[in-house]
Parts: sequence; structure tokens; C-alpha cells
Amino acid sequence: MIERRETRQIHVGSVPVGGGSEVTVQSMTTTKTADVDGTLAQVYALAGAGADIVRITCNDVAAAQGLAEIVPRSPVPIVADIHFQYRLALAALEAGVHALRLNPGNIRNEAHIKEVARAAGERRVPIRIGVNGGSLDKDLLAKYGSAVPEALVESAQTEIRYLEDVGFHDIKISVKHSHVPSMVESYRQLSERVEYPLHLGVTEAGPPPGGLIKSVAGIATLLLEGIGDTIRFSLTADPVEEAKAGRQLLEYLGLRERAGLDLIACPSCGRAEVDVIEVAGEAQRRLEEAEMPIQVAVMGCVVNGPGEAREADIGIAAGRGKGHLFIKGQVVRVVPEDEMVDALLDEAQKLIEEGVDARLAAADRMAEQLAAETAEELLQIQGDVNRSQERRARVAQIVEE
Ligand code: SF4
Repeated sequence: MIERRETRQIHVGSVPVGGGSEVTVQSMTTTKTADVDGTLAQVYALAGAGADIVRITCNDVAAAQGLAEIVPRSPVPIVADIHFQYRLALAALEAGVHALRLNPGNIRNEAHIKEVARAAGERRVPIRIGVNGGSLDKDLLAKYGSAVPEALVESAQTEIRYLEDVGFHDIKISVKHSHVPSMVESYRQLSERVEYPLHLGVTEAGPPPGGLIKSVAGIATLLLEGIGDTIRFSLTADPVEEAKAGRQLLEYLGLRERAGLDLIACPSCGRAEVDVIEVAGEAQRRLEEAEMPIQVAVMGCVVNGPGEAREADIGIAAGRGKGHLFIKGQVVRVVPEDEMVDALLDEAQKLIEEGVDARLAAADRMAEQLAAETAEELLQIQGDVNRSQERRARVAQIVEE
């Protein structure tokens, strides 16, 4: 179990952040905010993919006007992203946004920041202090020489002081960096100094798969240390992929309940009796379409498959032209190999409706025995497919020669 660091709780609209609440997923739209219908369509897609909160740029007057129409029709709270012009933050508040993100690197006038904080305070709208290694305050860059973790943390602390000076405490903070070790270190240092909730992200992570790997490396490292209250994957991709990835990461870490499919599959090897990549791909596509929130295993052979995947709710393993359907490691049905994905979907549906005990009770009594016989047959035919015994003997022979 992950022991989470205690933070103060704030509310972004109806969504709590920090203070022991669930870690939330954020993403950001890529449409022009003035395009109200296009932006709303993307907000709905992001919410459907697992985003709890969506950020939208507020970069000009037309964007602020767009927000006034988007916010009341949005299914999730909206954060306005503000850079350079503090008056756009005031306009976004007027438009009814649920939170602001201010970049301390490019809104640097103390009086302006305090004016925004007072206006946000009157409306009980929280502010994210969004420090970014790529747009750090010029004075701090000159002081530290580069965007080191200490510089990012100092930028956040200076901004916190401005907000606290006017009695504003509905704060969350991010100290994002594109270099994963610097990102991790920045958040570690910050978490020791403040009690405000933290928004985690690796900035400008790039397209998948590199962007996904960087984001997971940084965000998961911190979450496993108990640091972080809300997350965003910054991918150069359809933002729906960001929301999905964020949600999946939280589910895999046990920080959110499984809402979607968790497909596990063996990597395949010389024993595989089917094309595991093809079968797993088909199973994933069809199970996702059917929106089944279960863990499913696709295993290449019945010799090791059901045993290796016994933690999965349900799975299939191939062998000798047949598909072996198993629940919690017990083979419950044997079907022709070309029908095994159909049978998997059918059994998965029944499993969701009736539960594990009922489906185990309804198991074909002969299935376990058939699977055991097939596994034995395969062992006889395939034997030691990796020829390890033969190789060991040859290695020994070479040394002795
Ligand atoms: S389940 Fe079978 S095919 Fe898949 S990796 Fe294990 S031994 Fe190989």
C-alpha cells in the first residue's frame, strides 16, 4: 500500500484535490477555445477517457468569451491556463472557471498576481502555481545558471508568498521539468517545504512511446513515494491518450479502482500455440468496445498459461487447435481455437453478471482434465523447446575440450 503524504485539501469545482482524496487525472484541450462546440466535444472525449479535470487555454479575449459558454456545459471542472496577461485571469474568473493556472515565469508583477488572488479568493476559485523548467523566471535562471530543482522550488515559494500575503490558501502547485530526474527532485524538495497539494507532470514529454515512458518514470516514482495529488501526462498526441494513460497509471498503481479493461498477455515464446500478439490485439479491441472492467489474460500455451495468469479474472490459453478458457487459473471450458476470443467475451460477460463462484460452479467438469492432457501432450511433442539441456551439455563439452 502506498502511504500518501498529507496535504491540504482544495476543491476544483466539485472535485477534491489533496487531503486524502483520490489522485485525479487532468488533461488539456488542443482546440481553439473560441471554438466552443469543438472544445466542448474534446472536453467530453477527455472526460469519457478518464479525465477528472480539464484545462483550457485562455490566451485572448475570444478564448475568455468561449470559456463563458464552455464552463456551464462542461461535464467536468475547467481550469483556465493563463500566461503573460494577468487580465485574462480576471476575465476567466468572470467566465466562471473552476480554477486558474498561473505561470510565475511569465506573470511576474507582484501587484498583478495579488489582484488575481483577491478576485479568485472572492469566488473561492483555487489557483495552481504552475512552475515550468522551460519558462522559468529570468532572474532565477540568472541566479542559478539553469533550471535546477532549487530554482523551480524557489519560484513556487515566491509565488506562494504573494498569494498568502492576501490571505489566499486555495493553492496547488506544479514544478514540471522535461528532464525526469530534475522533475522528481523538484517535487521531492517542494513536498518537504509545503503542505499544498501537488500536481505532477513531466513537461514537454513528447510523443509516445518516449513521452509515455518519461511521464510514467517521473509521475510513478513520486506517487509510489506518496507524493502527488493530481497528475497530467503531457504528450504530443491526441489528449484523449493523455487522459487514458493517466487513468491507467493510477489503476495499475492501485490508486484508483479499475474502471476499464486490464489486459495482461504473455510475451510469447517457443511454446506458443497461437500468434499471441494478434489474439491479444483482437481480444483487447473487442473487450474495450464492450467496456468490461475486468482483468483478462491472453496466454500463448496451456502448458504454463493458466498457472502463470492465475491472478487474472479470466483468460484464454491455446494448445493443439483448442482454446482453454480459465477463471482464476481454473480451466472452465475448452473450445475450438478459432472460437476462443468469442468464447472469452461470452464468458467475461457472464462473469460480470454472475460472479466468480457461480461461473466456477458452472465449469465444464472435463475441461481441467482436457487441459492437463493437452499440456502433457505438448510437453511430449515440444519437449525442451529452448534446448537448454542440449546447450548445457555442449557448453560443458567446450570447456573440457
Ligand atoms: S504462456 Fe506459454 S507461450 Fe506464453 S510465454 Fe509462457 S510458456 Fe511461452
